[in-house]
Amino acid sequence: MDNIFFNHNKLNELISLKDYSNASRLLLREQIKSWPELEKAYSSYKTSQTKTFQFDGFVIKVQNNPGRITSSSAKVDEKSIKTRACFLCMANLYQKQKAIKYEEDFLILVNPFPIFPEHFTIPHKDHIPQAIKEWFGKMLPLSKDFSRDVIIYNGPACGASAPDHLHFQAGSKFFMPIDDGFHSLKNEYGEILIDNDSLIVTGIDDGLRKFISIETKEISLAEKVFDIFYNFYSRVSNEKTEPMMNIIAFYEPRENQGSEEYGWRILIFLREKHRPSHYFREGENRILLSPAAVDFGGVCILPLEKDFEKITKEDITEIFREVSLGKEQFEYVKADLKKSLTANLHS
Ligand SMILES: [Zn+2]
Repeated sequence: MDNIFFNHNKLNELISLKDYSNASRLLLREQIKSWPELEKAYSSYKTSQTKTFQFDGFVIKVQNNPGRITSSSAKVDEKSIKTRACFLCMANLYQKQKAIKYEEDFLILVNPFPIFPEHFTIPHKDHIPQAIKEWFGKMLPLSKDFSRDVIIYNGPACGASAPDHLHFQAGSKFFMPIDDGFHSLKNEYGEILIDNDSLIVTGIDDGLRKFISIETKEISLAEKVFDIFYNFYSRVSNEKTEPMMNIIAFYEPRENQGSEEYGWRILIFLREKHRPSHYFREGENRILLSPAAVDFGGVCILPLEKDFEKITKEDITEIFREVSLGKEQFEYVKADLKKSLTANLHS
């Protein structure tokens, strides 16, 4: 099985520096040279069209990306998942696909159907279920080690096309509008739940999306907040496997900012539904949009050109409202989180 590992004379140095963003880009460049289908996918990605819709204080883009049809329309019910060969298991990777090891447990692969200009999948080496509770802590060192990228997580019932195989994704920073739009969203629409020297937790409802942000310089604090949040949210959510969410982790290195601004920013989008009613409509009224972390980050992926042509601002609003947690439940989550954080964390 060793021949699946990527070999290059510059790789070890990048890995010893924990520069996984550049190690992955080296992998991408080499894979494009030797894997014709991948070369095709990335060059067709470069010509993909986008449109931008202006909302009050933020933008949502739509991207026409035909390469994503398989993923957007993936059957993720238990039976379909059981009968297909898992595409993230080492034994089933594409013949040309190479991997970089990430620590003991994970692999880094090039995503053969890119949404980001540089897009990687980070599966666990074993076939274990997609579940965040035990693995949230992994997102923090990952986002630090991928300093040019954000790390994303899609819940098993929230857009992950392999709900049976634990994986994260990495993709170019500042591709999603929320990467640099976060602070103005927070100022405009946020309710601060806790704010002390080492931690800010905010609940944000911009009329489309409902999410919790955690900003901190300390991994252990982020984990503690996530645990408190998870325990309560799993009681509010009706999903049986895991409460529905998408997560974006962003690490700001110290050298890029004033000394006060560096650290982690974790955005947790709260969901009510996997796919909107638009997805199941018949004929002309159908819009094939299956929202996951990147859509919540402000880039909606539309595999069909006709949907890209016809989608309106109103459709986008409706779709996000439908798949996001209800207003009342969000208020309930925020109130509990505020109470628990105040009780559990001393400023
Ligand atoms: Zn698998």
